[in-house]
Amino acid sequence: MHISQAPQLDHKIYCNFCPGYCCYRLKNATLYITAEDINRMARHFNLTDGQVRKKYIEGKNTFKTKNDGSCIFLKDDKFCKRCSIHMARPRQCMDFPYDEPCPYLYREDLLQQIQPKVEAALKGALKN
Ligand code: SF4
Ligand code: SF4
Repeated sequence: MHISQAPQLDHKIYCNFCPGYCCYRLKNATLYITAEDINRMARHFNLTDGQVRKKYIEGKNTFKTKNDGSCIFLKDDKFCKRCSIHMARPRQCMDFPYDEPCPYLYREDLLQQIQPKVEAALKGALKN
């Protein structure tokens, strides 16, 4: 088989075993929320677009975060963290890591920032 005919690796397969590193806000990183994303969430929650903006959006176009820096929609009641609005999540969340290897899984600088937060949160979940 020619290399170009080899099956493409679906990088999203790793998401099933990941505590959601990409759901933590890092310095200089922004999750960009579009008007279309807001409308999708509004329909999901049965709210108006304005209510979604007021309740969940920080600044003009990103989500509020919890004290540990994670997205307000990252569930923290389970050992393995998951998005609580999976079907209505923003386009950027759906597309990431854009058919590329996920940078959070191999970049030491990113892992050093996030891993302590993830471990602290998981310890909290184990106590519950
Ligand atoms: S995109 Fe990367 S960081 Fe996000 S859940 Fe998947 S493997 Fe984890
Ligand atoms: S909306 Fe869901 S997938 Fe996107 S950052 Fe928040 S918890 Fe993660």
